[in-house]
Amino acid sequence: MTDQRRPDGSLRHLITLEGISRTEIDSLLDRSQGYVRALGERAPSNRALAGMTIGNLFTEPSTRTRVSFELAGRRLGAEVINLEVQLSSRVKGESMLDTIHTLEALHFDAFVIRDSEPGVVAHVAANVAAHVSVFSAGEAHQSHPTQGLLDALTVRQHKGGHFERLRIAIIGDIRHSRVARSAYEVFTALGVGELRLVAPAGLMPASGEFPAGKRCLTLEEGLADADVVMALRIQKERMTQAEIPNGEEYFARFGLTVPRLRRARPDAIVMHPQPMNRGVEIDSEVADGPQSVIRAQVRNGVAVRMAVLEALLRPRPGGA
Ligand code: ASP
Repeated sequence: MTDQRRPDGSLRHLITLEGISRTEIDSLLDRSQGYVRALGERAPSNRALAGMTIGNLFTEPSTRTRVSFELAGRRLGAEVINLEVQLSSRVKGESMLDTIHTLEALHFDAFVIRDSEPGVVAHVAANVAAHVSVFSAGEAHQSHPTQGLLDALTVRQHKGGHFERLRIAIIGDIRHSRVARSAYEVFTALGVGELRLVAPAGLMPASGEFPAGKRCLTLEEGLADADVVMALRIQKERMTQAEIPNGEEYFARFGLTVPRLRRARPDAIVMHPQPMNRGVEIDSEVADGPQSVIRAQVRNGVAVRMAVLEALLRPRPGGA
């Protein structure tokens, strides 16, 4: 497993939620909650990261994650630079590290990285100077740790902290989803009562993965009395042409509609990491309906990224 800790055991990088304890998660969620404001209120800001420089290096498309990491850094007083660079070993491995070392020489203190190739984030983390931290903003199909944390925060806000009482249903393309993997890690660490993996056989993860999850091959079974319903986007970019399900057929079997949602508890919340394919994995009536907390997830994303940047980055010696 990627070593993301300092010798004293504290977190230095955030590459995966695997191995992060419940206490650490609770503390990050508490810190995040302190940065949540209602719409219309002034956004939080302080100077906790004044003098620091953060580089956003995204080689896969992103709207919410990139913007919210950028806002998070700025609202903590850091400089945030969005860089157009190639990182993966599709480009020669050395040139990737050359880029990183050039940026270090320019006094970058942290890198936020999204890449479609597994291992790139850990490779950068293993090669940066000791004072630099690396944050994953989504790695291949493997992990999306800040998404996992914002999902946990959203559930905690709406359902309280007794995760052991909750039935959470993750629905859709679990096989290719980094959101599902990070959700699994965070919810199992928080001791969720039942975590259901709801998907057609072709989109279920391999049998050794998600060992604590309960697999459901029909939406009806997966939704029964669920407290939390999380729909996922079909990750077409991680499939061959032949694997991509037909949108209409998929919606007919696994699309989240108002009548189907009635199988869940009446106070169930509906989540989606976005971008949404309306009419494929979720109907607009549900996405925009009273049970949807999808916009709260976006708002929580900035708060979680503020908390994570602040908790992991250490002030540098030297004056202004
Ligand atoms: N935005 C999320 C991600 O980066 C979900 C998705 O793209 O489907 O994984």
